[in-house]
Amino acid sequence: MQKQTKAIRIQADKSQNREHSVPLYLTSSFAFESAEQGKALFEETEEGNIYSRFSNPNVSEFVAKVCMLENAEDGIATGTGMAAVFASMAGLLKSGDHLVACRALFGSAHQIITQILSKWGITHTYVDASATEAEWEAAMQPNTRMVYLETPSNPGLELVDLEMLGRLKQKYGFILNVDNCFATPILQTPIDFGADLSVHSATKYMDGQGRVLGGIVVGRADLIQPIRFFARHTGPSLSPFNAWVLSKSLETLDLRMERHCRNALQLAEALDAHTDVERVLYPFLPSHPQYDLAKRQMSAGGAIVTIELEGGFERVSAFFDALQIPTLSSNLGDSRTIVTNPNTTTHAKLKPEEKAALGITPGLIRISVGLEAIEDLIDDFTQAVEKSADVVKEKVA
Ligand SMILES: *Cc1c(COP(=O)(O)O)cnc(C)c1O
Repeated sequence: MQKQTKAIRIQADKSQNREHSVPLYLTSSFAFESAEQGKALFEETEEGNIYSRFSNPNVSEFVAKVCMLENAEDGIATGTGMAAVFASMAGLLKSGDHLVACRALFGSAHQIITQILSKWGITHTYVDASATEAEWEAAMQPNTRMVYLETPSNPGLELVDLEMLGRLKQKYGFILNVDNCFATPILQTPIDFGADLSVHSATKYMDGQGRVLGGIVVGRADLIQPIRFFARHTGPSLSPFNAWVLSKSLETLDLRMERHCRNALQLAEALDAHTDVERVLYPFLPSHPQYDLAKRQMSAGGAIVTIELEGGFERVSAFFDALQIPTLSSNLGDSRTIVTNPNTTTHAKLKPEEKAALGITPGLIRISVGLEAIEDLIDDFTQAVEKSADVVKEKVA
């Protein structure tokens, strides 16, 4: 069966009510039919639900679907994407270990690595997304236990070569941990390139409609085991309600990503052709510096388009004022198109040299392309590009 069919057909077992749509299991705990069963469940000689911090039918259904989509053996869901990222590190790393990470990281992942893991004697080395194989190798130490990265990155849309890292993993024996949030398993399955773990903020495309928070880490069963132990006892569990919403959303993920990516490519092409747009970054535009790599490891370019407008914050401000359709928000991965200026919002706290390394300039705009009719988006972005260019010209004159 195709993945799309399975994403729709994988379901929690039906109850005696024969419901067609999976019910919501809003229960903190589960009853034992006998003292014997309670004993067996705790001894793990019998599989079953005990308490929703450990497992819950709605959460298990969501995990089963993501494992299927990612070609993963096992997984664990969490209340947010950051809880998944943290659990994937805290469950596997110990004092004295070294982590190699790609520099272009989601802000909170950067904080975990530099401010939290460091307190426990876990050291790190950052590598640029565009680093060569030799540069990645130069970062390796005898105690390097994990390599952590995002591809494509936020907001610069830089790609890391997963096949190359899969090869390095054979040589150095690290755990390859990939945040696959931007691509989703529909466009990219890191495990097929040798990754051991794939983590997600399910808050983004998996929900895709800006309703709930959630996270998940899937991968090798022997690595998920210590992560599950960590999560079971520290409690970053996903709520059954959010799992129910997310599992339903996975039924349409493939369909939504197809439209998201088609819209994003068309908008990127239209803006690229416009003389008042300084630069357009999109992995599936031939002008992207890693276009060939994008074509090798992704089946479509994703739904984030990053553009650069000349005229700094003043231009950005006029551009945002002129836009009629998009929402101004720092979130992404929504049916509604969202624009943000990373320099003054998501990445505002970075030092100037960190911004420079990530290509974050005052005129950079991240567009999370939604599911609206593409004609409307192109018209709206085009008029706002032109209107904002005029506003800036008038001020100069
Ligand atoms: C949003 C995001 C996260 C964090 O997810 P939350 O659900 O907000 O905790 C992690 N990584 C990436 C790439 C993200 O976009």
